[in-house]
Amino acid sequence: MKARADTVYQTNKMIENKSEISSKKEKGKRRRVSGISWRLFGTLALFVVLVLFIIWIFQIALLNRFYEGAKFDEFEDTEREIFELVNNEKRMVGAVYMRSEDTDSCIRLYKVINGNAVIIADSDINGGCILHSLSSSAFADLYNQAVENGGVYSKKMSVSADIDETDKSALYVSIKTNARGDEYILMMDSELAPLNATVETLEKQFGWIMCLLIMGALVIALAISRVICTPLEKMSRSARALAKGDYDAEFTGGGYREADELADALNYASEELAKTDDLQKELLANVSHDLRTPLTMIKGYSEVMRDIPGENNPENIQVIIDETERLTELVNDMLDLSKIRAGTRKPEMECFDLTETVRTVLTRYEKLTEKDNYTITFNAEDDIYVNADRTMILQVVYNLVNNALNYTGEDKTVCIDQSVWDNRVRISVMDTGDGIADEDIPYIWDRYYKVDKVHKTAKVGTGLGLSIVKGILEAHGASYGVESSVGEGSNFWFELDTIRSVDRYDDSLKDK
Ligand code: ADP
Repeated sequence: MKARADTVYQTNKMIENKSEISSKKEKGKRRRVSGISWRLFGTLALFVVLVLFIIWIFQIALLNRFYEGAKFDEFEDTEREIFELVNNEKRMVGAVYMRSEDTDSCIRLYKVINGNAVIIADSDINGGCILHSLSSSAFADLYNQAVENGGVYSKKMSVSADIDETDKSALYVSIKTNARGDEYILMMDSELAPLNATVETLEKQFGWIMCLLIMGALVIALAISRVICTPLEKMSRSARALAKGDYDAEFTGGGYREADELADALNYASEELAKTDDLQKELLANVSHDLRTPLTMIKGYSEVMRDIPGENNPENIQVIIDETERLTELVNDMLDLSKIRAGTRKPEMECFDLTETVRTVLTRYEKLTEKDNYTITFNAEDDIYVNADRTMILQVVYNLVNNALNYTGEDKTVCIDQSVWDNRVRISVMDTGDGIADEDIPYIWDRYYKVDKVHKTAKVGTGLGLSIVKGILEAHGASYGVESSVGEGSNFWFELDTIRSVDRYDDSLKDK
């Protein structure tokens, strides 16, 4: 009944897992919206647009502002150079004409004499500029603005009101008094060249540059995605072949690290799958063989006993009983293993005498040792207590001793040794048989793994013994292993923590 419940539980789990896998698959499908080339192209195109936008802002949208700013900076430099000579009027006048030529601006220098502004230097480079057509009221206005502003004033002005916005001049006024108390007024005027035509040309060029760069982005995206995708597509084809059971499918990288690593991982997975598949087939063959052999025997003997008079004897009945026992043992082992692996059989820890448990196992073999002349020795100085699942540890010892008896050499001896150090105890089961080759050792713990592929006689276990041992010891967190040399025999061992006598005493008090 319990076994049935476990089977139902496992079936439910399988159904849950299946639906989980299919929902994961669906999610994977839903997520596959655009390919690498489109994503790359999108990213590159976005980058191109962003870069061009930044260039457009600085080169086109803010061009006028930068240009005007540069003009006024130039005025400030000129003002500084001229007024540096404010105490030397002659040189200052010379500087006016020099700077006027250098900067392509009209410059006028006034000296305030008796409350009147008298021109002492006048450079008229651009005929018809604002400076040279200033009315006296406009001049007074500019002067007052400069005085209010702390001596400096600058503005953009049109020659006449109907002139286009862009047809402006930059005007700069500065007032300075020298050490003698003479006041000078410096006025500068420079045409602001119309930039509209330049901006239009740049905008057109920008259109073309944008088209070219976006096309370039497309070509680059296609080229990069080809390099990335070709090996990925090849690998996904191989993966599909692998999923259909073609374990020869080979995964090759694309000559770049990530793809090569993926290919290596997939090749490794494929090799492991091939191994698992082989094991699975072998397992099926072994299970069916193991189940069929006793069933055939039982059927055969029963028919003989039914049809032939005199064959209904105790010997034949014993054969049937033995075969039934073997069948039961096989089915029990299978169930044990599946419970241990599924985690439904958990160790129930108790404090017990390990040494006594080993002795109990050995009593089961007394008849065999008498009948077939086997010698089993057990070396243990003291009785050692451990905290573990007694039934499970009994099963471990039983399986190891059983194997040792099955595989031991012609001298038919098996030696069991108990060694204790610190707070550890090690049980070693040694035989004198053929031993196990190094390359087989990692696999003997796998279910149904048999070093000798030819199926052995009924005497030789169910093929599940060591995987049960492994499952139990791992559930206990115990260390285990085997030392074996071909032709000399094997030593299978496991270790557990011992319990101090004080702890044992405490435990027994708790029980009471
Ligand atoms: P089996 O029922 O075949 O003994 P086990 O799981 O107990 O299954 O053991 C797996 C394999 O490990 C055996 O088929 C055998 O090849 C090898 N093996 C186990 N114990 C020994 C041993 N004491 N000496 C040699 N080989 C062993």
